[in-house]
Amino acid sequence: MRFEGQSFQCSMLEGGVAELRLDLKGESVNKFDNPTLAELAEVVGLLKADPEVKGLLLISGKEVGFVVGADINMFLGLFRQPEEQLIEYLMSVHKVFSAMEDFDFPTVTAIHGFAVGGGMELATSTSYRVMATTARIGFPETKLGIFPGWGGTVRLPRLIGADHAIEWITGGDHHSAEESLKLGVVDAVVAPEKLREAALDLLAQAMAGRRDWKARRRVKLSPLALNPVESRMVFESSKAFVGGKFGPNYPAPLAAVASMERGSTHGRDEALAIEAEDFARVAKSPTTFALVTNFLGDQFVGKLAKKLAKSGTRVKSAGVLGAGIMGGGIAHQSAAKGTPIVMKDIDEKALALGLAEASKLLAKAVERGKMTPMGMAEVLTRIRPTLSFGDFQGIDLVVEAVTENEKVKKLVLAEVESHLRADAILASNTSTISITRLGEGLSRPENFCGMHFFNPVNRMPLVEVIRGRRSSDLAVATTVGYALAMGKTPIVVNDCPGFLVNRVLIPFFLAFDSLVNDGVDFKRIDKVMETFGWPMGPAYLLDVVGTDTAYHAIQVMAQGFPDRMAAADKSAVDVMYELKRFGQKNGKGFYAYVTDKKGFPKKEVDPEVAAILKPLVRQDTSATISDQDIIDRMMLPMIIECSRCLEDQIVTTAVEVDMGLLYGLGFPTFRGGALYYAGAVGLQALCRKAETFRSLGKLYEPTAQMLSLAQAGRTFYEEK
Ligand code: NAD
Repeated sequence: MRFEGQSFQCSMLEGGVAELRLDLKGESVNKFDNPTLAELAEVVGLLKADPEVKGLLLISGKEVGFVVGADINMFLGLFRQPEEQLIEYLMSVHKVFSAMEDFDFPTVTAIHGFAVGGGMELATSTSYRVMATTARIGFPETKLGIFPGWGGTVRLPRLIGADHAIEWITGGDHHSAEESLKLGVVDAVVAPEKLREAALDLLAQAMAGRRDWKARRRVKLSPLALNPVESRMVFESSKAFVGGKFGPNYPAPLAAVASMERGSTHGRDEALAIEAEDFARVAKSPTTFALVTNFLGDQFVGKLAKKLAKSGTRVKSAGVLGAGIMGGGIAHQSAAKGTPIVMKDIDEKALALGLAEASKLLAKAVERGKMTPMGMAEVLTRIRPTLSFGDFQGIDLVVEAVTENEKVKKLVLAEVESHLRADAILASNTSTISITRLGEGLSRPENFCGMHFFNPVNRMPLVEVIRGRRSSDLAVATTVGYALAMGKTPIVVNDCPGFLVNRVLIPFFLAFDSLVNDGVDFKRIDKVMETFGWPMGPAYLLDVVGTDTAYHAIQVMAQGFPDRMAAADKSAVDVMYELKRFGQKNGKGFYAYVTDKKGFPKKEVDPEVAAILKPLVRQDTSATISDQDIIDRMMLPMIIECSRCLEDQIVTTAVEVDMGLLYGLGFPTFRGGALYYAGAVGLQALCRKAETFRSLGKLYEPTAQMLSLAQAGRTFYEEK
């Protein structure tokens, strides 16, 4: 049997062994797209019909790994089909994978690199799996709002037991070779260079009758080996746990458990039909569409950034000015990802604190087994603390992260510029000051741009790279490249007050202030917005950001956009600021904070706050304001400002806006970003709703872009 396709190539080895290689031509990785699946069906048919074939080795021809899973680009089109059509499609894939499982000869999959999703589902339909020590496998489908739909929920529990399968499928994590072997997902683990040889050896044993591959198959074709009591125990407790862990906004993990349960009393074919039915239902949920769109958005911004970085200069050594919260975080992140960094401060104590913070983060990584003590020591050698500019000549890029004060920053930037090479790039981590203005005092403003990180630097994926009026393409591209090297997602933003993220966050806070002025209890607003999906409601978020920081940011925005961001009334943020209730940082804000046993701040209701906010209420209309009104009043100003950012060409695409909000603000992922959410609600409905809030001012006035999209029945994602 010989086959030479676009995705599969098959050749015969000695003794009737067919070697089937998966190697998609013209692609860097193997993924299952429709042509690959069609080719697999063809190859499986040919293998079945060939009497010469006595055993099959399935292996990848790509150095990077086995299969990364299904091609996610095809998901949205697939999931938009009517349910029956989707079920039909899934059943056609089941037919191919089951035919592979039903060959009357044994089969072995050799796994190296990554084998996830559909790749693992195919692998579990073969008799045995051999895995390289360095490989990682898993079923990440629930992260996209679906669950394994090519037999994963049927084969995995039959292979390793329902409890482990539930853990793997609902968790969506990648697993090591050691763990996979222990649970029996794979049958052997070997060094990567021995993989093919070991897989062929295992196959020879099965072909020679020294391994009972048919008995193993019988287990996979039968109902789950659980009696009714065991079954109830496993599935009921899992449903309670998984339902509680993921909540109603992420239905896929619970649906996966329910589907495994429904299929558990049936043989393979009936169970596969059940999986197809349940999958088709969950695939059509709005959460799935949002999560898949986010995934594609992430790929889109990643590709944009990589392309841009190619035209920049690689940053081999970096510097950071200021060893505070942000400077310390930037130094840690740079060093941890391999770029050595000089950290300068004017205060020796601050330097020691910055280093201590980096050590603490690294020690945590060691504790979690993500880094060795040696690795930690090596990373620390990449951070060079200093009080002088002596070390700055050799540096390619410096991030300024000193105190947020325009005068101080201008002085510091001019000083550092005089110590740098003429081609070095200078970037400011300012949150609110105009990059164009900061660049004015420099002798090489073209080498200057913004590099806005989010707090905490090690955890927040976004970096806004801000292009000032005089920033050169090279400065922007080099900074984007450095952000990528630090493991971040950079998005290029043109200079404006608040850049992208703070520009759209402040209207959200102003909407909160206006609800409080209308007598709505801030705790109710928090609860409604947390139920909507925000990780924390606006009052809690203000406490975390710091009401002092928010107050200053609001002042800047009010100056920048007085038509809509200069509030007429005294606001809740104003009062908190005046009373020095700065939030978590000093233990009192909208809430009071106590330190819990683990040393984290715990929020509590502060009985004083109601009386503090009462004088702000213009007229208490809270009884007429529904929870949906709260959501609309909070979300509309944010959506409208996002649209303004597109109209003003601050950001180029709706996808970048949404990824900025997801990665910089913690926008609820299951709703996509703000612009995706607007499309899901419908722009016509939103514009109608905005009309009812007209008296609240310009923050609620839809943009021309929104109105024209609404009129055309389009969304921000289908602009043209
Ligand atoms: P911070 O007060 O924790 O740290 C500032 C550090 O700068 C201090 O260690 C101070 O000693 C040092 N410094 C002051 N003048 C200096 C000089 N001339 N040379 C060298 N060091 C000097 O402040 P932070 O929160 O780390 O903020 C730093 C910058 O990052 C600000 O521009 C801020 O707006 C921005 N930012 C902060 C956050 C946040 O959440 N904290 C988020 C994004 C951006």
